[in-house]
Order: sequence, then C-alpha cells, then structure tokens
Amino acid sequence: MRKPFIAGNWKMHKTVAEAVDFAKRLREAAARLTDRDVLIAPPFTALYAVAEVLKGSGIHVAAQNLHESRQGAFTGEVSGPMIAEAGCDYVLVGHSERRTLFGEDDALIARKIEAALECGLKVIFCIGETLQEREAGLTAGVVERQIKEGLKALRNDDIKQLVIAYEPVWAIGTGKTATPGQAEEVHAVIRTLAGRLFGEAAADSLPILYGGSVKPDNMAELMAEKNVDGGLIGGASLDFDSFFRMVMFDRKD
Ligand code: PEP
Repeated sequence: MRKPFIAGNWKMHKTVAEAVDFAKRLREAAARLTDRDVLIAPPFTALYAVAEVLKGSGIHVAAQNLHESRQGAFTGEVSGPMIAEAGCDYVLVGHSERRTLFGEDDALIARKIEAALECGLKVIFCIGETLQEREAGLTAGVVERQIKEGLKALRNDDIKQLVIAYEPVWAIGTGKTATPGQAEEVHAVIRTLAGRLFGEAAADSLPILYGGSVKPDNMAELMAEKNVDGGLIGGASLDFDSFFRMVMFDRKD
C-alpha cells in the first residue's frame, strides 16, 4: 500500500539558521511517524546542516535541482554526488519554475533524472500543464509527453526510486488549487500510463503527489482521492505550524 507522502519545497527561502530551526522542530514532532513519508527541500546552502539535524529520523531531505554532470567547469552548478554527500536522499527534477524560468526541456530533464538515479538519489519528478494547455484540452497529452520523454532512460527497476508530482502550472503559487476531481483525473491518467510503461505492480506502488497551492485547509480533501498519495507544497510549507498541519492531515494526535 502507498503511504501518504508530504513534501515541502522551500524554493529560495530560509537562511541556514532558519532552516535548521525548522528541521529541529520537525524532528521533534515527526520523527516517530512511520505511517507516512515526510520530506523537506531546503535551498542548497542549508542542505548539509538540515540533513545533519534529520539524520536517523526517517525524514527525507531533497535538493531542488541538480546538474546532469558529475563534475566539471559549470560555474554555479551543483552535481548529484555533491547532493548525496550532503546527506540528501531525494532531488526534485523538472519543477515548472526550472522549466519556465531556466529553460529546462524534456531532454535535459531526462538527463538529470538519469544522473540522479546513477548516484543513488531518488527523484521527485514534477510535471504539469499550463493554463493555455488545459484550456485547449491538452492536459493528458502534455503529462504523457513529459513522462515518456523525461523517463526515457529509466529501466524497469528504476521506477521504485521515483515519485511523480503532478503540478498544474496554473496552480503553483497562484492560490488557485485544482479541485480534488481535477487532480484525481490527471493522477489516474498518470498511473495508467505508468502501468503501460513499467508494469501494473510498479504503477500501483508509485507515489503520485499533487502540487499547486496546497494548504492546511484543502489538504485532506485532495488526499481523499484514490490516486492522490500526497502533496508537494511550496508557500504553505514555509511556516512550521502550517506544514505540520498538512503532515498530520488525517491524524488526531
Ligand atoms: C511548488 O513549488 O511545487 C508548489 C506547488 O508551490 P505552491 O504550493 O506555493 O503553489
């Protein structure tokens, strides 16, 4: 069975001191939770310090990006082995901000996913359509293309190292959330496609997260959908109490 997976993407927010403070509170509050996966993705500068705090807690740490090469003359870039050594077990690839603001296309994203898997990192692979694509009825086709192109180099077993985050671009940071029904419709398309590409068993255990203006108030209704296994949360993950409410969306304690 798939466990709920609650992930916070901090983007370019929090100093090392702020990130460590948050991580200490999270460790205190969430280390005992074994019935769900909890992850935070701090900026590069805070990864090592946060990973040290969370070591042994079962709480995951992700980088928000990686370079597709292991090393080289790429000023300003950070590679997969560096991220793994800093203590991360996950990396985000294909976030819509990387696609739109930094020109990352499906081919580059495929190379980054390959690079991440090669150095033992698990991948949260982000996909999703723009408003224009949704209004033109292209949503299913867009996510299908992103998955087929992005996961080109994947071997059958690699799928176990993967989490997919469906994040409609029109919902990210806009306050406009997809309805649970809209999310479920696309998540079902993704799971069916994953079944065709990687087999039913692999598709069945693939965590598919929804992202796009998830907040404490809409988390539970999204999570009630059959194929929504968790949330990738940006803005609402920055405040500890807000994030923790979403981590605990279905628990009374
Ligand atoms: C994100 O950055 O992945 C995201 C979904 O952001 P927000 O929750 O702020 O919409």
